[in-house]
Amino acid sequence: MKLFRKGSEGREVSDIQGRLVSAGFLQESCGEVDQGFFSDETERAVRAFQQDRGLIADGIVGPDTWRSLVEASRVLGSRFLYLHEPALRGDDVADLKRRLNSLGFYSGKEDGIFDSEAAVAVEQFQRNSGLAPDGIVGTRTAEALMRLSRVTKPTSVAAVRESERGLPRGGITGRRIMLDAGHGYPPDPGEVGPTGMRESDAAERLVEPLGNMLVDSRAVVLYSRRRGEFLPEEDRAALANQLGVELVLSIHFNASPDPRARGASCYYFGSRSYRSPYGYRLANHIQDALVERLGLQDCRAHGMAVPLLRETRMPVVIVEPLFITNPDEEALLSDDAFLARAASCISEAARRYFMGLKARGED
Ligand SMILES: [Zn+2]
Repeated sequence: MKLFRKGSEGREVSDIQGRLVSAGFLQESCGEVDQGFFSDETERAVRAFQQDRGLIADGIVGPDTWRSLVEASRVLGSRFLYLHEPALRGDDVADLKRRLNSLGFYSGKEDGIFDSEAAVAVEQFQRNSGLAPDGIVGTRTAEALMRLSRVTKPTSVAAVRESERGLPRGGITGRRIMLDAGHGYPPDPGEVGPTGMRESDAAERLVEPLGNMLVDSRAVVLYSRRRGEFLPEEDRAALANQLGVELVLSIHFNASPDPRARGASCYYFGSRSYRSPYGYRLANHIQDALVERLGLQDCRAHGMAVPLLRETRMPVVIVEPLFITNPDEEALLSDDAFLARAASCISEAARRYFMGLKARGED
């Protein structure tokens, strides 16, 4: 799709503004002048919306932001929800799952995707409320749900159940781990450093020693792509689901227009109302290892909802150990000794995670 950003105008911009208004991020009375014109105020609203949704807050409406805007305008009860291929998505589905979870009918990750776990939970709810157990959310089921779960708590049973079900323990032996080197050149180099180092190549360089170390600790290692191959993010998520891996480690590098920006950050699945306890734990283990053992600046672990984190059915952590746009950090990416140390931090963190050790900051 076309990208819409500050200065864009037309009917699509009016549509974007309308959706921002109904999602509560833009004041309706922003004047005739702004209507259909992507102003500073529209950009601010887009950024706030993106931040709220765990998207990259760049103020530009591309496919991800557009899809989230469409999903944001769906309200529970306004359409039928049922198991469908491709899955139905939207805020109404997230609301449904939140309500089911808060009532104790475990419906899985509160991610706005109507999956088989959601369908089973709907059936259980219907059976318990004397409704026909068909797994379809029509008007009567939606009404019953809204009546019974008037209060929706920010943290629900989902997080609790996920941890009960087993934050993993028992060690890394035999665990199926997918390593995902970000991007893939050609056609997608990712970010490029000041001397021309491509993010996709740097990610491959780090994935190699990391894979060897994980194999040495007896994990089963699978790769999302071969060297020099490219795969869209959605396909990486689909592949991880299809292969039934227990963990995905995705390697990227950070970028900034400011060449001084430096340091390590990790991302796990999280949004306003939910965070994956697994992702949170592992991201913090990795973050701690990179900061403490390599002395990197701590840019912390963050919750996000980009497709790879959202569409996957297992914990996924995106690791960005360095800023490729920082000349000193870019140089480290050609240093095999450094890459081996970084790989050892990540594989050690995975080992701690599979041993069931809590991360700092967990209660
Ligand atoms: Zn990247």
